[in-house]
Amino acid sequence: MHVLVVEDDRALGAFLKKGLETEGHRVEWVEDGEAALVYSAEGRPDLILLDLGLPKRDGLEVLSELRARHDDAAVLVLTGRGDLQARVESLDMGADDCLLKPFSFIELTARCRALLRRRQQFADPVLRCDDLELHRVEHKVTRAGLTIGLTAKEFALLECLMLHRGECVSRSQLLQEVWQMREESGTNIVDVYINYLRRKVDAGGVRDVRRRLIQTVRGMGYRVSSPIQAVPAPEAPRQPSIPARIYA
Ligand code: CA
Repeated sequence: MHVLVVEDDRALGAFLKKGLETEGHRVEWVEDGEAALVYSAEGRPDLILLDLGLPKRDGLEVLSELRARHDDAAVLVLTGRGDLQARVESLDMGADDCLLKPFSFIELTARCRALLRRRQQFADPVLRCDDLELHRVEHKVTRAGLTIGLTAKEFALLECLMLHRGECVSRSQLLQEVWQMREESGTNIVDVYINYLRRKVDAGGVRDVRRRLIQTVRGMGYRVSSPIQAVPAPEAPRQPSIPARIYA
């Protein structure tokens, strides 16, 4: 998940950034309301952790502007205990949830997961990229109208990539979101499953390299993108096979 932390308390901001990165999320941290509005427009985060007392533009102003420009990022407001009025106001203005300071990191990550689940439930039931379709409710995948049989993990991996279609998703993010594992576990399970997916999604009948949808972003991760829209990147020569070892 791509998270924007908006917090002017430097110790708390640094703690949140580091903690969420360790959980496998991509995190940007800004310290004032103006920077929050600029970053959310450009970076399109999935979730914004928003402090209310901020320099330049306060949290309520940021929230009001986000909702006025129909930014649909989930917003979790962080408030002080005495701030009942601000909490009520922020929920009225479209915040998805509030968390009282001081909070435990475990509670914060649980709330983040709940927000993300809720957001995904309301998201598009059919994800599309070129002639590939993923039907989230029926758990069905088709390419050019032909059904592709995927295992549950292959489906979850493809769903995660298609939710971020057009963007590079790092191995650590895929590990976290699909397997709930940390990068330090030293596993190559992501690469192994990408190889399985490629054989089914891109290799089966799609021999033309220009029509491959699952792309490697070298040194970064993977991306599902329409070949027409993709920036042509030199791909490493295809290996005959990836050793199917899983260090899990
Ligand atoms: Ca503050």
